Amino acid sequence: MKKTVKDIEVKGKKVLVRCDFNVPMQDGKITDDVRIRAALPTIEYLKDNGAKIILMSHMGRPKGEPKMEFTLAPVADRLSELLCTEVKFAQSDVVVDDSVKAAVDAMAEGDIVLLENTRFRKEETDNAEPFTGELASLGELFVNDAFGTAHRAHCSTAGIAAYMPAVSGFLIEKELKFLGEAVEDPARPFLAIMGGSKVSDKIKVIDHLLDKVDALIIGGGMAYTFYKAMGYEIGKSILDEEGIDLASELMEKANDNGVELLIPVDTMCATEFSNDAEHHVFRASQMPPHMMGMDIGPESQKAFAKEIAEAKTIVWNGPMGVFEMPNFAVGTNAVAKAMAETDAVTVIGGGDSAAAVEQAGLADKMTHISTGGGASLEFLEGKELPGVACLEDK
Ligand code: AMP
Repeated sequence: MKKTVKDIEVKGKKVLVRCDFNVPMQDGKITDDVRIRAALPTIEYLKDNGAKIILMSHMGRPKGEPKMEFTLAPVADRLSELLCTEVKFAQSDVVVDDSVKAAVDAMAEGDIVLLENTRFRKEETDNAEPFTGELASLGELFVNDAFGTAHRAHCSTAGIAAYMPAVSGFLIEKELKFLGEAVEDPARPFLAIMGGSKVSDKIKVIDHLLDKVDALIIGGGMAYTFYKAMGYEIGKSILDEEGIDLASELMEKANDNGVELLIPVDTMCATEFSNDAEHHVFRASQMPPHMMGMDIGPESQKAFAKEIAEAKTIVWNGPMGVFEMPNFAVGTNAVAKAMAETDAVTVIGGGDSAAAVEQAGLADKMTHISTGGGASLEFLEGKELPGVACLEDK
C-alpha cells in the first residue's frame, strides 16, 4: 500500500502535484474535461487542509519546445471555474524561472498555481537534470495523481520523488485499489475480456492474466489471428502475422492452466472496411475469402453475455469489433450491456473500451473505469509503474 495525502502533514507546505491534464483540445478550447474533474478531489483536499498547491502536467507532444498550441492556459481557466477559486497560471516557456519562483514564494495557504506544460522542456521525457532539480526547488512534498502517465518515468512523474517525500493522490489510490484488487484478490469466477486489433500488443497482458483468471474471452480483430492459429481461413480480416504463434502458445497455456477460453463461434463479416458495406454472419470456420471480420456474431454475443453473468469479477480491455462504425459496434455494446447488468465487480481498462462504455451510456454502471489506457495495460501485465514505485509505502 502506498501512502496518500492523508498519511502526511500538508498544512503550510508547498506541495507539487502531478496531474493528468492531457485533455483533448480544439481551436484552443477543451472538448472534454473528464481528466480535469478527476483531479479535483485531491486538489480540494489539499486546499481544505492548508497546503500551497503547485500543479504540474503535460499536454500533447510539444517535443521539448514551448509550442503555444500546447499551453496549459485553458486548463487554468477551467480549473478556476470548477474549483470556484482563482488558479494562477505561472506561464513560462521554460516552466521554471525566477518569475515562477516568485509566484510560488508569494503563495498563501490554500493558494493554487499551475505551471506550464512540463513537456516544453526536453529533459522531461528523459527524466533528466537540470529540469528535475528545478521543479523540485519549488516544493517540499510530491503528490502523484496522474495515473495516465504513471507508466512513464519522467521528471515530473517519478524523478522528482528522489528530492522529497512522495505520496499518491486519491485518483491513483483509487486506480490501484480497483485494478489491484481485481487482479490480486478477485471474487471468483474471475473473467477477463480482451479485444482490440493486435495479439502482439496485448500478449503480455493475456499471458499474465492466464495465471490469474478462471475464464478468458477473446474478441475484436485479434480473434482472427486466433482463428488462423486454429487453422481457419479468415478472408480479408485483419491478421497479426507475428501473433499467430503467440496465439497458439496462449491457447496451450490456457489449456494447461485450466482456464476456459472463449473465442467467437460466429463473426460478422463485411465486403469492405466501411460501415455501409454489405455484411453477413458466418460460422468461425466458414468465413468467405472476399470478406473481412468486423464484429463478433449473435451467438458469440449470447455466449459471452452468459459467461459475464456467471462471473464475479470482470476486467475488460479492447472492443469486440470496429465499434467506431455503428453497424459493427453491436458486439461491443452487447458486452457493455451484459457488464452493466451484472452485480459483479466490473473494471474497464481505459482506452477504447472506456470510450465504448461511455458511447453506450453505461459508464455509471461499471465499478471502475480506468483513466489510463497504457498505464492500466502495463499494470495488468504485472509491471510496476515508475510513477507508483517512487511513492512511499505505508
Ligand atoms: P486496440 O488499440 O488494440 O485496443 O484496438 C482498438 C481498435 O481495434 C479499434 O479502433 C477497433 O476499431 C479495432 N478493431 C476491433 N475489431 C476489429 C476488426 N475486426 N478489424 C479491424 N479492426 C478492429
